[in-house]
Amino acid sequence: MPESSPISLEADLLEVAELVSQLVSIASVNPAIDPSSAGEAALATFVEDWLCQRGVEVAREPTGLPGRDNVIARVRGNGGGRTLLLNAHMDTVGTDEMQDPFVARREGARLHGRGAQDTKGGLAAYMLAVASSRRLKLSGDVVFTAVVDEEHGSAGTIACLRTLDADGALVAEPTALEAVCCHKGFQWLDVHTEGVAAHGSRPDRGVDAIAHMGHAIVALDRLAAEVAGRPGHPTLGTGSLHCSLVRGGQEMSSYPARCQLSVERRTLPGESRDDVEREIQAALDASASGRSRQPVQMLTSLERPALQTPDTAEIVTHLRAATEAVTGRRPGSVGQAAWTDAALIAEAGIPAVVFGPSGDGLHTPTEWVDLESVATCSDAVLATIRTFCA
Ligand SMILES: [Zn+2]
Repeated sequence: MPESSPISLEADLLEVAELVSQLVSIASVNPAIDPSSAGEAALATFVEDWLCQRGVEVAREPTGLPGRDNVIARVRGNGGGRTLLLNAHMDTVGTDEMQDPFVARREGARLHGRGAQDTKGGLAAYMLAVASSRRLKLSGDVVFTAVVDEEHGSAGTIACLRTLDADGALVAEPTALEAVCCHKGFQWLDVHTEGVAAHGSRPDRGVDAIAHMGHAIVALDRLAAEVAGRPGHPTLGTGSLHCSLVRGGQEMSSYPARCQLSVERRTLPGESRDDVEREIQAALDASASGRSRQPVQMLTSLERPALQTPDTAEIVTHLRAATEAVTGRRPGSVGQAAWTDAALIAEAGIPAVVFGPSGDGLHTPTEWVDLESVATCSDAVLATIRTFCA
């Protein structure tokens, strides 16, 4: 569709407000974050029923996590067109000190509650767009995945990618209606030092694993400064490294036999797992000191890639043109700090862009989403479907 064609606004603000309120009022805290949570199951049932009632073909798919299925919906085209994948996560972070986290409270255009911004506003926008896309005459398919576990291990999106393929993907996270084409990746590493346990009165026998780790921490802090001084990425800046957790020692009057440090490295597009391990191991080797002279052991516990979708990818150009047709403003192609499941989708060979509404306070006690931007997001996603899957 030419950019100048008028696009009728499909998403009705009352309908949007009602749907976001319903989604927020169904608790779906990730049980890996809060083990007392029942997880995403009740929300999955709601999403499945909501889509089914609107005539959308929908099914559950297991993710390998007990009781935590994805919901997969498909609007089939007539054949020959591009397939668009829409992805939104159903889980939220915990509630901490949040007051009434699952009571959706409206204040003008703002809707407050846990998950309102991250990412139930975006989930609602995509659900409405999927339901409306049934009325379009499309050649390609629209595949919608409402996934579990984005806030922890991404088991939902990983499970989807075992069977799904598409020509482009939109991922619902709050982006204030900008097209986020790049973000950093991350790598978690565990570092271990060994000492020799002994009574605190026997320095002739004891070797202090915590003191040994102290040397390693100083070396990693120097490496962090070096990483921060590199030229960096035009949008994302530099990579980074910090010490996240440290554990060691048994009691006051003993030499600690072991110490463990967990380190997070935020990576740029193009930085590989091997590169990261090599430079960290080199820093640790140089730090091995003290009486133990033991090498410092290191292991990657989790690694997630960075996102770097080219501005020229079809999904980017379609999303930007479609959003401009809806809002009159062409969204920027920007980077963001936080990691998303879009990186896994892109790694699987599907060009992916993060796109969602505006709001504030995600992962804090004051989370809210702007309902008007949810409606605009829904219209922009529908307009993207209309051209991408034409
Ligand atoms: Zn999120």
